[in-house]
Amino acid sequence: GQCVAVCPTAALVENDYIQEVWDEIEDKEKHVVVQTAPAVRVALAEEFGHKPGTISTGKLVGVLKMMGFDKVFDTNFAADLTIMEEATEFVDRLQNGGTMPMLTSCCPGWVKFLEHQFPELIDSPSTAKSPQQMFGSIAKSYYAEANNIDPKNVTVVSIMPCLAKKYEAGRDELNFSEEYKDVDYVITTRELAKMIKESGFNFDSIPEVKYDNPLGESTGAAAIFGRTGGVAEAALRTAYEWITGEELLEVEFEGLHGYNSIRIAEVDIKGTPIRVGVAFGLGNVRKLLEDIRDGREKVDLIEVMACPGGCVGGGGQPYHHGNFDVIKKRIEAINNVDRTSTIRKSHENPSIKKLYEEYLDKPGSDKSHKLLHTHYFEREWL
Ligand code: SF4
Repeated sequence: GQCVAVCPTAALVENDYIQEVWDEIEDKEKHVVVQTAPAVRVALAEEFGHKPGTISTGKLVGVLKMMGFDKVFDTNFAADLTIMEEATEFVDRLQNGGTMPMLTSCCPGWVKFLEHQFPELIDSPSTAKSPQQMFGSIAKSYYAEANNIDPKNVTVVSIMPCLAKKYEAGRDELNFSEEYKDVDYVITTRELAKMIKESGFNFDSIPEVKYDNPLGESTGAAAIFGRTGGVAEAALRTAYEWITGEELLEVEFEGLHGYNSIRIAEVDIKGTPIRVGVAFGLGNVRKLLEDIRDGREKVDLIEVMACPGGCVGGGGQPYHHGNFDVIKKRIEAINNVDRTSTIRKSHENPSIKKLYEEYLDKPGSDKSHKLLHTHYFEREWL
């Protein structure tokens, strides 16, 4: 059988949508916005002969501008938004006796695996949509309304490290409107490199440009979504402050860093121990979930990524040929993006605060639920 979506490797041929994206950019009726996932900026340069771990955020934005996108925005903005919704849900479940452990839900390879293999856990994932999908919803609602653009004429393109993100963009239950999709086209990091090469741009002479706002502003917490342990860490940076009402001074939780494929960390939130499980690779995830089901392990929060090291090792990234050192360098680059960010907690992102003030009201509001949450299904076939 064909591994159409769960397969996070690059072993299958997927639609690349490169021509469709060029056509949309050419179409004067269309307002074409692009978002870039956290892991793309720490890997793209490898396609142009640079060392693994090279950070090329400014050139990534610069080249997308040169290609003709109307706005270059950031999936990291939406990762901060995901944390607002997911941390709210986590604190609510923790304090009001909801389904525990809570599972992260931003990796579509993992979500599909769960729907097929662990239907008894269908109520466990956070209902918060992934950053890619939240970005699309906000671009076609808040952003379109604020700029007087008919959302039908807004085209959302994603640059992703991932093949499963193409499948995710096609899941009907993730779209907030019945008339259009949240995300129209997904292009992988390798496909973007191909587009850059086809355009004849010389990567080294591309000018460094900053993201457009407001959907381009992000924090260090959003950056670490690109590596294993990062989503859990970002959620806890925010949950800690919400639970204790105090400022978190040490934002890096050591136990959530590292390269092992299964890790258990205990984080102390002023006397309340929170146990966090982190796993990457679906075989390791199965082992962790079985340990929990059979009572050998007890955790409150589980972060799962299908790919080695998280999205930095995604199937749409430059080939790493099974060399985990390449992935480690990308992880370190992600950590550098976080450490050099002025703001490192999602709830302190000024553009996110403004989005809630002007539009969504508060995390978990009716409007947030309509735009930013989803549900899951037991699935029996691919
Ligand atoms: Fe995609 Fe990231 Fe999941 Fe891999 S870990 S399947 S790149 S979302």
